[in-house]
Amino acid sequence: SKKRGFVELDRVSKIYGNKDVKIVAVDEISFSIDKGEFVVIVGPSGAGKTTVLNILGGMDQASGGSVWVDGEDIAKYNSRQLTQYRREDIGFVFQFYNLVPNLTALENVELALQICKDPLDARQVLREVGLRERMKNFPAQLSGGEQQRVSIARALAKNPKLLLCDEPTGALDYQTGKAILKLLQDMCRERGMTVIVITHNSALTPMADKVIRIKNGTVSSMELNEKPIPVENIEW
Ligand code: ATP
Repeated sequence: SKKRGFVELDRVSKIYGNKDVKIVAVDEISFSIDKGEFVVIVGPSGAGKTTVLNILGGMDQASGGSVWVDGEDIAKYNSRQLTQYRREDIGFVFQFYNLVPNLTALENVELALQICKDPLDARQVLREVGLRERMKNFPAQLSGGEQQRVSIARALAKNPKLLLCDEPTGALDYQTGKAILKLLQDMCRERGMTVIVITHNSALTPMADKVIRIKNGTVSSMELNEKPIPVENIEW
């Protein structure tokens, strides 16, 4: 059979609506990502970026096409398989952290690990993201950047195949956002983890190994950076 990318979307579509109204959110998109790549998906509002990420993460189902992840077409999964995939194989990082407010940082990470097959040590991962002293704090006692670090620890502790980040700096100031992107880039390099980051900001594209530009639900252009720039060296 054909050699597939670690992640490979093959003519994936997503159509919302009913018989009268059709919204084509994703329009036969195809792209491929290697294991360990740091990928930036960029494009205007409404282009379909979040829909693509949600399909890749098993949070939404494609209307058509194939979604290959590590040799499996998850577009063919039933809902039970998709739930297991989402729990065990995918780490999500969102713009607004989505922490449980009445649990500490440590408890937020441990909660996510209860439904996971092969978790890492929650305390160890919290130390790695720089929260050694903050584990017993509740989300409201943490800054935005610290809360995002908890959410990254929660995702990383699952030891996922894919780390999917939807506008992870969207709610943060410039310096804090930069530190978060540096953390994501470091995690990609140190662990050889495949990381995909959605952003509106095209000034960030030099940090990526691969840039996928999405417009009107499909790829408008793609570029490879042979020498991606460390986040801390980018000004935007
Ligand atoms: P943004 O940068 O604003 O988040 P995006 O590139 O992530 O935009 P999507 O959120 O994927 O774009 O949306 C793509 C298109 O699909 C938009 O026209 C949006 O209105 C539409 N859409 C997304 N989700 C739904 C839904 N559940 N029902 C109907 N239309 C939807």
